[in-house]
Amino acid sequence: MRQLWFLCCCLALLLPDAVHAQEGKLSTFAFNGFKYIQLDDWAKYYSFNHTWTRASKELQISSKWSKLEFEIENKRMLLNGTAVWLSAPVVLRDGSACVSTLDLDNAIHPVMFPPRLKPGTKVKTICIDPGHGGKDPGNQNSGGQEKGYTLLLAKELKYQLEEAGFKVVLTRTSDKFVELESRPFVAQKFDADLFISLHFNGVAGGGAKGAEVFALTPPGASSTNARGEGATAVRFPGNKNDEQNSLLAYGIQRALLKATNADDRGVRRARFAVLRYSDMPAVLVEAGFMSDPGEASKIRSSSHRRTMAKGITDGIKEYKRIVERQ
Ligand SMILES: [Zn+2]
Repeated sequence: MRQLWFLCCCLALLLPDAVHAQEGKLSTFAFNGFKYIQLDDWAKYYSFNHTWTRASKELQISSKWSKLEFEIENKRMLLNGTAVWLSAPVVLRDGSACVSTLDLDNAIHPVMFPPRLKPGTKVKTICIDPGHGGKDPGNQNSGGQEKGYTLLLAKELKYQLEEAGFKVVLTRTSDKFVELESRPFVAQKFDADLFISLHFNGVAGGGAKGAEVFALTPPGASSTNARGEGATAVRFPGNKNDEQNSLLAYGIQRALLKATNADDRGVRRARFAVLRYSDMPAVLVEAGFMSDPGEASKIRSSSHRRTMAKGITDGIKEYKRIVERQ
């Protein structure tokens, strides 16, 4: 699958840069506050195959290298088998499946036609942010506190990233409280190229498990787990990296699932403070549920944390390879 993704990125190299502007000529319509485009038009434009796998319910778009799976009235889609949450549901109109242009631009295109760094620019320094700390324990279970596990995972991840040749800085190296808003500025101070915040999930009563990676919600969209937040057109500093944020979140989610075999809770969107104020591409990883007994014991295990760190490292290496291509 990793090869598949890379090949899909190679395909992007074959497409002229003007392609997005041309695509802008495809007809659109407004619905529920979003601008929508017909997926059959879009697929035809790129000569992708377009097939209903369940009549008027489930749709598949594929090229030689990639596969996109959509479901009508659903925000969850699969991009080369990895779940991605859209900001607006796919809708059926006049017999055609339609997707919002906001999601095409911010969730689908960054993976299908990935951004590229300026020639000579490299991804070198990674800022790791171990979630919580000090007076803020985060989630807790009978075995421990989230702030302790995020620091242990951060130290393992630092080791593996350094082995892979990256320079690494941490927003905290001990059980210390660091204000959320000031964490991205630690990354900025050290001129970090990426910001990776580490967390473990928890839900009252249990029942949920799996891994998910958050990227900053684009302007005009609602967050995946919006709790009455609603859509806002406000642009935060982190929104200047929307494309890279999406590609990085996707790459880490894919590699993390491959390494750990965790359930796929998908690439999600949130306006977390650490993502809003990040000057560089940034994601927040929720690597498992402390409230799930099976995952709690994995989170406690140093060998499993090594596997999680390997997945995150692989995702970062893949991201680097793709954005540094010439
Ligand atoms: Zn947390």
